[in-house]
Amino acid sequence: MRVLIVCDMEGITGISVWEQVNGGAPLYEEGRRLYTADVNAVVRGCKRAGAQQVTVIDWHGAGGFYSFKSLIPEKLERGARYVLGAPYLRYVEPLEQGCDAALFVGFHAMAGTPDGVLSHTVSAEQWVSAELNGQPAGEIALVAALCGTWNVPVVFVSGDEAACREARAVLGESLHTAAVKKGLGRFAAVHLAPEDAHTLLEETACAALTSGTLPEPLCPSPVTLRVHLHTPEAVQSYVGKVGVEIEDSRTVAALGTTFWELWERFARR
Ligand SMILES: [Zn+2]
Repeated sequence: MRVLIVCDMEGITGISVWEQVNGGAPLYEEGRRLYTADVNAVVRGCKRAGAQQVTVIDWHGAGGFYSFKSLIPEKLERGARYVLGAPYLRYVEPLEQGCDAALFVGFHAMAGTPDGVLSHTVSAEQWVSAELNGQPAGEIALVAALCGTWNVPVVFVSGDEAACREARAVLGESLHTAAVKKGLGRFAAVHLAPEDAHTLLEETACAALTSGTLPEPLCPSPVTLRVHLHTPEAVQSYVGKVGVEIEDSRTVAALGTTFWELWERFARR
């Protein structure tokens, strides 16, 4: 069994403010330790379930030099390989080579979710909201659709209660979720103790891979991603891109046969 673990930082145990997830901020090193420990627990769960190949991708945009490498290399669990520094949703080799399941660790709810800790969609500064084929979409749906391009089902999502609720709404009730905290707003939460969270993460990840019934992959085709941006100047960077339409001064829409085709057009610089 080959599995892919995709990681983000906002849905990690003990994390509730930007200062823990933005590179160089006063609490960032604390955030990195918490992040690495949650991810390690999921890696252990995958290995317990019998996964022979475990690939982990750090997709947390910590900012500048720190982006996509917030995991602490010397603390990483043995028996997996770790992708550090690959731009957001751009490294797809494990999916292309074939993998049986994807697990999402530390994910957060979409922009505008009142009880979603650090809720946002892709860019808190630039994106107001997004829709995938007309349905409100956060990062859970976007990354699930990326995996769906290669028919890979998402079997496990961890984060706060709001992220887990959103994930089940998108991916169905057979999804295994692990809620490590409950948001009291966007910047406060009731957290599990990290060691309790690690037990929950390891056992839920293991159960997700051994329960027998896997959720269906999310693979809409054709697919449209509509993004509502905060400002007209944010729209300017999309002018002239193939397959991307400027719908009005603050709205862009990208089209593709698969989500990967769409994202390649949309995210290419
Ligand atoms: Zn993030």
